[in-house]
Amino acid sequence: MIIVMSPSATKENLEKVIKKVESAGLRTHISEGEEVTIVGVIGDKKKIANLEMNMMEGVEKTVRITEKYKLVSRNFHPEDTIVDVDGVKVGGKQIVVMAGPCSVESIEQLREAAKAVKAGGAQFLRGGAFKPRTSPYDFQGLAEDGLKMLRQVADEEGLKVVTEIVDKDDLELVGKYADLYQVGARNMQNFQLLKALGKANKPVMLKRGLSATISEWLNAAEYIMAGGNEQVILCERGIRTYETFTRNTLDLSAVAAVKELSHLPIIVDPSHGTGRWQMVKPMARAAVAAGCDGLIIEVHPHPEVALSDGDQSLTPKNFNLLMSELGRIAEVMERTV
Ligand code: PEP
Ligand code: MN
Repeated sequence: MIIVMSPSATKENLEKVIKKVESAGLRTHISEGEEVTIVGVIGDKKKIANLEMNMMEGVEKTVRITEKYKLVSRNFHPEDTIVDVDGVKVGGKQIVVMAGPCSVESIEQLREAAKAVKAGGAQFLRGGAFKPRTSPYDFQGLAEDGLKMLRQVADEEGLKVVTEIVDKDDLELVGKYADLYQVGARNMQNFQLLKALGKANKPVMLKRGLSATISEWLNAAEYIMAGGNEQVILCERGIRTYETFTRNTLDLSAVAAVKELSHLPIIVDPSHGTGRWQMVKPMARAAVAAGCDGLIIEVHPHPEVALSDGDQSLTPKNFNLLMSELGRIAEVMERTV
């Protein structure tokens, strides 16, 4: 349930409302917007059903929320959330770009990639050190050595680090080097990991699961927020469909859906979303036009020898081209790149 306070409600009115909700054994989440204050009510469904708030002074109306996710919901928090990743704001006017190789392979490879993405205008260096590969015989990542390289090279270039965490026990280890935790598609419903990240004091980028509905994805984000970490960025990276030409089907309608349902920023990954470098540029353009808050793009200095995802990695030259095109689309959307 949300309780919408009337514009003329006083501080005392609000305090009484909170007190009544809490004395019924429920929790409140206050969203003080420029125009209206909303009290979100969280807790046992039966207790919420028995709660009568309409007659209280200062209450304009109450609205029953049918979705299971609450803190993630735009009903609870009508204004867009901006996630601040060590000074880089995701969800504001600027479309944030995260780019780099699928996997960290060596310091030379990473440095070459970082220089290229910085020159192209990215704010983040991406790269996996723990790789959740489909086959156990494929390259599994450089683990802590890879994390160290990410931090070192990102600092050399003045970039932030986003990298994947696959195990709740790695929270501290990954947090030591990363600015933004990435939860991969395969771990979207790793609830132990989500709960651990709920206690972390760094932002989290949550990718959509391979076959997850938008509701399942938003409920996964709710796990993180319910733990107390409200700095969540969503990432659409394509879903499984019957189509085989592309690796996944990039669901750009999810951008519009998420903007309607949630206040959280959403970024798009056209690399995993298509699996084909030729399609990364057009889909990145479309994502910006659809209203995303950022992009995460795989860039490799030599895609033909990449240890993972070479087929979907842009060369530095193509990344540069893409970045120069995005500015014009961003302008139409009243955004910047
Ligand atoms: C990745 O970003 O390299 C990755 C493994 O992505 P996803 O979890 O979307 O497959
Ligand atoms: Mn990849």
